[in-house]
Amino acid sequence: MCAAVCPVIVSRAEWGAQPPKSAIALKVPVDHVIIHHTDGATSDSKEGCSKVIRQIQKYHVETKKWDDIGYNFVVGGDGRIYEGRGWKTLGSQAKGYNSKSIGISFMGNYNKSEPSAAMLTAAKNLIEYGVLMKYISSSYELHGHRNVKCTDCPGASLYSIIEKWPRFKGGKLPGYNIYIYIPFHLGVFQLGLNFPILLSRHFIKK
Ligand SMILES: [Zn+2]
Repeated sequence: MCAAVCPVIVSRAEWGAQPPKSAIALKVPVDHVIIHHTDGATSDSKEGCSKVIRQIQKYHVETKKWDDIGYNFVVGGDGRIYEGRGWKTLGSQAKGYNSKSIGISFMGNYNKSEPSAAMLTAAKNLIEYGVLMKYISSSYELHGHRNVKCTDCPGASLYSIIEKWPRFKGGKLPGYNIYIYIPFHLGVFQLGLNFPILLSRHFIKK
């Protein structure tokens, strides 16, 4: 099944992940792929990247109060792919799109600098592999996080690169900055019961 594009995926066990607090199944194939940057430290070694990912997971779990590291995958500064929630678990990475996307985050900040060629190739291969394995629909759309939310993510430099990738769709996508129906409908609590959800509940009842 693994053609020329077989990506090297560092498993959770390999990078020393803590177990998720809970996991909700992601219905595949998804129709969207969302690109992020982690906007923090990076490394060019497996050991260093593993440490960075453990820190990101700690931040997402302890500070953000999510069930696990938010992304489905992280592209390490070393050009390896690190398994986050993986292909089959709902992520916490793009409000309103978590249930219909795979979120891939590039380790580092790419506002001004570009990811290495190895990182870009790894991400492209991962997407191609996801399509091959039917985790991602063959008619998927590719976006930057900024297309669904008011954010700089994935950084101006990286964004200008993915704009040229196949199946890219930019602009403000439906539900931009609004996260109501999907989380509510699925009973997904990763966002917490915050004000917009309470508001949407109010409108749905009407
Ligand atoms: Zn993002």
